[in-house]
Amino acid sequence: MRSFQVCQCGAPLQLEERATPQPTGTEVLLRVLAAGVCHSDLHFWDGFYDLGGGKVLRLADRGVELPLTMGHENAGEVVAIGPDAKGVKIGDKRLVFPWIGCGECGVCRRGEEQLCLKPRFLGVFRNGGYSDHLLVPHPRYLLDYGVIPVEQAAPLACSGLTAYGALLKIGPVLEREPVVVIGAGGLGLICLSILKAMKGFGAIVVEIDPVKRAAAKKAGALAVIDPNAPDAGKQITDAAKGGVWAAIDFVGTAATARLAIDSLTKGGKLIVVGLFGGEITLSLPLIPMRAMTVQGSYTGSLAELNALLDLIRHAPLPYVPTTTRPLDGANAALDDLRAGKIIGRTVLTPAG
Ligand SMILES: [Zn+2]
Ligand SMILES: [Zn+2]
Repeated sequence: MRSFQVCQCGAPLQLEERATPQPTGTEVLLRVLAAGVCHSDLHFWDGFYDLGGGKVLRLADRGVELPLTMGHENAGEVVAIGPDAKGVKIGDKRLVFPWIGCGECGVCRRGEEQLCLKPRFLGVFRNGGYSDHLLVPHPRYLLDYGVIPVEQAAPLACSGLTAYGALLKIGPVLEREPVVVIGAGGLGLICLSILKAMKGFGAIVVEIDPVKRAAAKKAGALAVIDPNAPDAGKQITDAAKGGVWAAIDFVGTAATARLAIDSLTKGGKLIVVGLFGGEITLSLPLIPMRAMTVQGSYTGSLAELNALLDLIRHAPLPYVPTTTRPLDGANAALDDLRAGKIIGRTVLTPAG
């Protein structure tokens, strides 16, 4: 088995070759056909999040141990099955749900493993898909992606699910009111498509990069707004014909969160997804007086990923521009992502 691993935070991934594991118990071994390179891999690779005010959250303190094979957006072909793994057969092609919890706590039992306090997320706490093989602990984390091309299917496990999980938090009001979407990178664009598939009213997209604004407009945004414009806030509320009921911040800086909160109407909701970093202050009386909700959203549940695949089966998404690279291109793909050179998604194809 060949894997590209983080051995030291921020240092280039290293090629590690070892014996291919054999699945035991309920485990299933996949040959990795596609492994998406996600922006959050840059945070895992760096080993910390910027909490603002000079504070950082270190992944080592959250139980992440090195060396680690990153890659949480994986799809592959079943090549070996543990004796207790039921419901899959050799040759099945499956999307992998990576947000695996302990399986035993109340959170896991109610089906929200992505929020478990003892996470076993693949590619974050356990070895992921920057590798030619991937061990999955149980077949229930394997989803049939049908006729979706594999390099389009893999990113659904994180970027697709994250956008869908955020949109679900808005509720039925999204059919009647525009949603403000901050950031038109890979997440923002897939969010527009999923919103459409959900029969949403539409999105007002806020993005600093004119190229990405044009991409959002082409993807059907109701309006696109440059947050650096001096009247950006007014442009947003004008486009929303008053106050905004719901905003999703896929960037997550002090400036984007501030802009979103200031544009909310009474009863409005901001959903923070992006992990760029920073901090804001909130006037406490304005939270009740404006009946405001600020909610975080972290990926989504196994049931939500199943529901997303179901939604796409009935309303196929337009394909996200995707570049494929061999496994050996993992370092170059991360460097390009950090340099902002990626339009759409890069997917590693370890199985060649
Ligand atoms: Zn748990
Ligand atoms: Zn991700």
